[in-house]
Amino acid sequence: GISVVKVKMISFAIGAFIAGLGGALLSYQQGSITFQSFSALAGLSVLTTTYMAGITSVFGGLLAGIMMEGGVMFTAIDRNIEIGRWFGIVTSFGVIMTVLKNPEGIVGPAHAFFERRRLAKLAEIDAASTDQIDRRRSDDIRVVPPPGDPLLVVRDLSVSYGGVVAVSDVDLTVHEGQIVGLIGPNGAGKTTFMDAVSGFTASSGAVVLGGRELSGLAPHRRVAVGLGRTFQGIDLYEDLSVAENIAVGQQVSGERLAEAEASLDRIIELLDLSRVRERGVAEVSQGERQLVSIARALAGRPRLLMLDEPAAGLDTNESLWLADRLHDIRSTGVTILLIDHDMSLVLSLCDEIHVLDFGSVIASGTPSEIRNNPLVTQAYLGTSQAEEVES
Ligand code: ATP
Repeated sequence: GISVVKVKMISFAIGAFIAGLGGALLSYQQGSITFQSFSALAGLSVLTTTYMAGITSVFGGLLAGIMMEGGVMFTAIDRNIEIGRWFGIVTSFGVIMTVLKNPEGIVGPAHAFFERRRLAKLAEIDAASTDQIDRRRSDDIRVVPPPGDPLLVVRDLSVSYGGVVAVSDVDLTVHEGQIVGLIGPNGAGKTTFMDAVSGFTASSGAVVLGGRELSGLAPHRRVAVGLGRTFQGIDLYEDLSVAENIAVGQQVSGERLAEAEASLDRIIELLDLSRVRERGVAEVSQGERQLVSIARALAGRPRLLMLDEPAAGLDTNESLWLADRLHDIRSTGVTILLIDHDMSLVLSLCDEIHVLDFGSVIASGTPSEIRNNPLVTQAYLGTSQAEEVES
C-alpha cells in the first residue's frame, strides 16, 4: 500500500539533507572548500570507515563519525601515535577483516548482545504468562452472515506472459461478508489472478471494487480503495518486530498517532499475537509469521482481504487455529478471498469456491458442490486417476 516512488524520493531527500549538513560542517572545519576535499579516494576512505563501524544501524553511523579521519577518536589517537599517514592502510585492512569475519561491523556484536538480553527477558515474561493464555476454540458456534452486495467484480480478466496465457477470460464475483476460496492445481493461475486484481501484473479486462474501477491503478492506489493482500512468500521485514511489521501496513490508512496505536492493539489482539508483539519476526513460528503478514494487510483497513496460501507450512492444528482467526476477521466486516492448497481448510471455511485450471474457471459453487464435482477431481488427479477414483 505504500507508494514506492514517494518513499524512495523521501529517502533520497533525507540522505541528501544529511550529506548537505555534513558538507556544511566540513566547510567550517576546513575553512575553505575545494573539490580536492571530495576526491574519489577520500570518498572511499569514508566508505571503508563507515562499513567497518556498521552500515546497517544508526549507531554504526554515529561510531563511523567518531572513527573517521578528522573525527574525535582519530584526532585523539593521532596526537599520541601519529596514525595519520597510516590511517588508510589500517582502515583498508580493517574493512577486509570486517567483510570476512564480521559483516555487521563493530556495532554488530554489541547489537547481538543487547538482543540476547531482550530475548531472555521476553522468555521470562512468556514463562510467567503461558498459563493465562486463553486460546479461542475452533468448535465455537459461528454465525455465517448472508452474502451482501457484490464487492469485487472481475470481468474477462486475462494475463499473458509471453506465449503463456496464465489467466484467461476469468469472470468472478465476491459478495460482501463472504469468505471465498480460489483453488486449483499448481500453475493454474491463482497467484497471477491475485497479482492482476491487486495491480502487480499487467492484465486486460475489468476489475471493480465497491463500484470503483481499478484497472490501470498502481498497487498502492488499489490498497487505498480497500484492497489488501498477502504474498505466498510472506515477505516480512525480517529486522523489524511483529508490531513494527504490522505498523508498516498502517501507513496507508492515514490514521492519527493515537488512533493508529489503538487500531494496532486491536489487530494484534484479533489475531492473537499479543504474546509475540515485541519479538523480531525472524524468531516467531511459521503460523505466527503468516498471521503477521495477514495483520499487516489488515492494518491498511481493507474491505477485501486477499490471502495467498496462508496455511502453507502449517500443521493441522495451526491450520485450525488460522481458520479461527479468519472467522474472527470476517466477523469484523472484512470480506476474504482465499487461495490455499489445504483442502480441509478451504472446504470448511469458505462460503463459495471457484476452481481454476489452466487459467480458466472450471467450476464454482458451495463446498459440497465442489467436493462432488467430477471436473474438479479430474483437474486435481488427471483423467485416468479420476476415472479410477470414480469407479
Ligand atoms: P501455485 O499453486 O503453484 O502457486 P498458481 O495457480 O498460483 O500456482 P501461477 O503462479 O499464477 O499459478 O502461474 C500460472 C502460470 O503462469 C504458470 O504456468 C506459470 O509458470 C506462469 N507464470 C507465472 N508467473 C510468471 C512470470 N512472471 N513469467 C512467466 N510465466 C509466469
